[in-house]
Amino acid sequence: MKKDILSRHQKLSIHKTVLTWFTYNQKKLPWRSATPPDPYIVLLSEVMLQQTQTSRIAEKLPAFLEQFPTLEALAQATNKEIILAWQGMGYNNRALRLRDCAKTIVDHYYGIIPDDIDILRTLPGIGEYTSSAIASFAFSQNVPVVDVNIRRIFSRLLRKVANNHDMLSEKESWEIAGILLPKNHSNLWHQALMDIGSLFCTSRSPRCHDCPISSHCQSAFAVIDGEKTPKKEPTHRAIPHRIWRGKIIELLRQSNHHSENANYILHALFQENISTLDSDFLDYILKKLESNNLIELQTINNTIIVSLKE
Ligand code: SF4
Repeated sequence: MKKDILSRHQKLSIHKTVLTWFTYNQKKLPWRSATPPDPYIVLLSEVMLQQTQTSRIAEKLPAFLEQFPTLEALAQATNKEIILAWQGMGYNNRALRLRDCAKTIVDHYYGIIPDDIDILRTLPGIGEYTSSAIASFAFSQNVPVVDVNIRRIFSRLLRKVANNHDMLSEKESWEIAGILLPKNHSNLWHQALMDIGSLFCTSRSPRCHDCPISSHCQSAFAVIDGEKTPKKEPTHRAIPHRIWRGKIIELLRQSNHHSENANYILHALFQENISTLDSDFLDYILKKLESNNLIELQTINNTIIVSLKE
């Protein structure tokens, strides 16, 4: 990627447009309210946002913070406590990794969230995006951040795209993010781009007429159409495994003592025309959940009892 992809003047002009728009129009979100930013809240929100919608996290975060007001409290949570508190956010493995991350910080970093991006990246559940987001949003460091919204904006801003699948590679997006980063405004810049991506530059129906950066954008008002790309993932009865996993955890969350027998779960999931394929599939998924430390399996009087792991 050429460093001079935009002139200095063009970059300054885009920075001014984006940052001014954000000053007056940013989304009000609970994790943005603390001044200066609270690294614990940034860590929680960024892990929660990895695969869950912003509106859902905005709703769930206050109750989660009430239950785990500090990193130390989170580090002490049992598997069962954290899985119960994670209700409605999906991908339950993330809850365990978040607790493990808190525990690692308490055990190895005196309970202080590291501000070093390389150390952040070694923590459980923290990858390239989340470590950069924490460094930028919690510690105002001059580091690039690329999520799916930002990648889509860069893909359209700098060249005319053919359809909604026409995206820069991950590598190119990170390079551009580094080139375009306005020094000392990393936090506001990236959050502004995320808002513009989610409010205007959506995947299939971008709202270029209302978009604050349309005058800078190579793809503005281009016909951007295309199908949604279905995720390639394993399914059973045409439903992804992750949905079945979530349904089982939800059944256990709702049940008395957070425990059920496997036969009850089989009927609750499939209801009618249950085949051996369904029962084999349930065995397989239960073993997976057990190996992920989300549940425990016990055999009592030839009955398999499934419980949330303590
Ligand atoms: S002008 Fe349209 S294509 Fe360009 S960034 Fe804005 S919404 Fe996206």
